[in-house]
Amino acid sequence: MKEAKRKDWDTYFMDIAYMVSTRSRCPRRHVGAVLVQGKKLLGTAYNGAPMGVPDCSEAGCMIAEEIEMIEHDGKQEMVKKQRCVRTIHAEQNLLLFTDRIDREGSSVYVTDEPCWTCANMLANSGVTEIVYHRPYPKDSDKVKEMMKQKGIIFRGLDSYEPPRETVMVVSD
Ligand SMILES: [Zn+2]
Ligand SMILES: [Zn+2]
Repeated sequence: MKEAKRKDWDTYFMDIAYMVSTRSRCPRRHVGAVLVQGKKLLGTAYNGAPMGVPDCSEAGCMIAEEIEMIEHDGKQEMVKKQRCVRTIHAEQNLLLFTDRIDREGSSVYVTDEPCWTCANMLANSGVTEIVYHRPYPKDSDKVKEMMKQKGIIFRGLDSYEPPRETVMVVSD
C-alpha cells in the first residue's frame, strides 16, 4: 500500500455510530445510530432511558422474558430470551431528536440491525437507506421483506471492523 488508506464513508459513519454507542448506560447492549444527509451528519442517538429518569446503571436493567422460536437441526425449538426494556432504542431516539425534513432522503447508520419495531418506525420516517453492522437474526427476515416493499435500501456491512475501544461484550 502506497499511502495510508483513507476511510470510506461507510466506515466513517459507522465508526461514529459506534462512538455514540459508548454513551449508552445499559450493560446488556450498546447501540448507536446516526442520521446522514449526503455526507453531512444531522443527528446522533443511543439507547437509553428517558432523560431525567434513572438509567440501567442506576436502577438496573428492566428484564423482560420472551419465548423465541429458533431453528435447530431443522426443528423449531422454543428458547427463553431476556431483554432489557428500560431503554428507548437508539433508532427511536434518533427519530425523536431529528426533524422530518432532515430525514427525507437521508441514511441511517446503526451499529445493530434494527428490531421489528424500530424498522417499522424507520420505514415511516422519511429515510431511504439503512446501514447496519451487527446482525439481529430474530427479526431479520420480516424486516428485510418490509424494507424491500418500501423500497428502502437496507444493507449490512459485512467486512467492517468497529474501533476496538467502542465495542462492549454483550451479556446475553
Ligand atoms: Zn438495560
Ligand atoms: Zn429497536
